[in-house]
Amino acid sequence: MTIHFPFQNTYSTLPANFFARVAPTPVASPRLIKLNLALAIQLGLDPDLLSTAEGTEILAGKLVPDGADPIAMAYAGHQFGHFVPQLGDGRAILLGEVVDKEGVRRDIQLKGSGPTPFSRRGDGRAALGPVLREYIVSEAMFALGIPTTRSLAAVVTGEAVMRETALPGAVLTRVAASHVRVGTFQFFAARGDVDGVRALADHVISRHYPDVRSADRPYHALLEGVIARQAELVSRWLLVGFIHGVMNTDNTSISGETIDYGPCAFLDNYNPAQVFSSIDEMGRYAYANQPRIALWNLTRLAECLLPLFDDDKDKAIEQAQFMLGEFSEKFTAAYQAGLSRKVGLFTARDGDEALVQDLLDAMAKNDADFTLTFRQLGNAAGDEADTADVRAQFTDPVAFDDWSKRWRERLALEPQTAAERKAAMQAVNPAFIPRNHRVEAVIQAATNSDDYAPFEELLTVLAKPFEDQPQFAAYADPPLPDQRVTRTFCGT
Ligand code: AMP
Ligand code: MG
Repeated sequence: MTIHFPFQNTYSTLPANFFARVAPTPVASPRLIKLNLALAIQLGLDPDLLSTAEGTEILAGKLVPDGADPIAMAYAGHQFGHFVPQLGDGRAILLGEVVDKEGVRRDIQLKGSGPTPFSRRGDGRAALGPVLREYIVSEAMFALGIPTTRSLAAVVTGEAVMRETALPGAVLTRVAASHVRVGTFQFFAARGDVDGVRALADHVISRHYPDVRSADRPYHALLEGVIARQAELVSRWLLVGFIHGVMNTDNTSISGETIDYGPCAFLDNYNPAQVFSSIDEMGRYAYANQPRIALWNLTRLAECLLPLFDDDKDKAIEQAQFMLGEFSEKFTAAYQAGLSRKVGLFTARDGDEALVQDLLDAMAKNDADFTLTFRQLGNAAGDEADTADVRAQFTDPVAFDDWSKRWRERLALEPQTAAERKAAMQAVNPAFIPRNHRVEAVIQAATNSDDYAPFEELLTVLAKPFEDQPQFAAYADPPLPDQRVTRTFCGT
């Protein structure tokens, strides 16, 4: 029985300098550790067949399925502000594209499947820890309703990868609207290849922004579209306490999905300056810096598109600056509206912005847990007698009391019942996020003891982040002082 993937590949029909044709490197003895059944079905794949030995060999890169056209994509990128003219898929191989049940074209990519012409010094492999982290966090983001790449499968390869120590190797099957990044545009722009930039723009327009084809100026409308999606995306990150950790231009997707989960993490206590990534020494990608960085990355994209805007460079720059100037407003509108929803407001009034900002300031000063504060605030909105929990989030509970008085006065101006308000709040304030210490515990159990039970259980909990799930209540808890994970690593 041969497994059929309904591949329809378009990226590999683009000019030859867009990619390198390269097959995955077979691995010793692959073992399937996770298959995402719902996603497989969504993609039109048969999960039973994918679970067979043959399916596992495909998901490990040992067997290339019919219809695949394996390529490593070329891209460049600014890494921590420094431009690298050639990066490219150094440890990932795009098998091909399938059109899913909703008619959306999606890339199926193996990550950790061996060297490519873009690998340079790297081995093209991935360690189990980062594969599990990406699987968990990307699926958690999906359940939170945030645009993201997905994880179809994880396999262990049966081979060790050398990092600081020898670690079990693994391959993640990643599914994305596409893998075109800001850095992909930079690759061609840096070579003065305007035809390449145009061909890429046309590809992403037909794939991600089909509506702009009928715009007066489609390439301008493309930039506006990417700006709008990034503004929305980063607002969504902030509203759940997500820190991407490596917002380099090569990790910024043109489709508006969250991509490239490396040293990413969620806030426990609210601290706008929070950084987890061990390589982010200057705090460039700190929690509250993310909107600024998104705009910086979009500015790099705009620079690539200038030749498509106008032959007169000054005019093109002026047009780009105008569009980039709208990012702030778009981001702030999405972020403020989201914050208002988090505190249970149904309408907008003067003073709302200050009200939520004062809560955030009090949370930061009083070491309040970001996720739990909002979740418990929802309980308090439902029943004033349920205020003790949220109050206890604040080292000085009086800080909450002062704020709460103003909040209750503001709520009283709206007609909704307490039950309606609580329901609306619990639908946007998750109880469960992939807390760092939980992710770390999963990785340790899998890496050290070949034990995937914690991984499975965490995935189960995170699949329903907005439900209370009393049997898993402990997963909502922040880490105890000795469980705190303060540093995360790329693990590449
Ligand atoms: P990332 O940190 O995942 O955004 O990767 C940055 C660049 O390094 C990309 O071009 C990757 O393909 C490449 N890279 C990361 N890890 C490896 C590896 N183990 N082998 C080869 N290339 C890698
Ligand atoms: Mg990357």
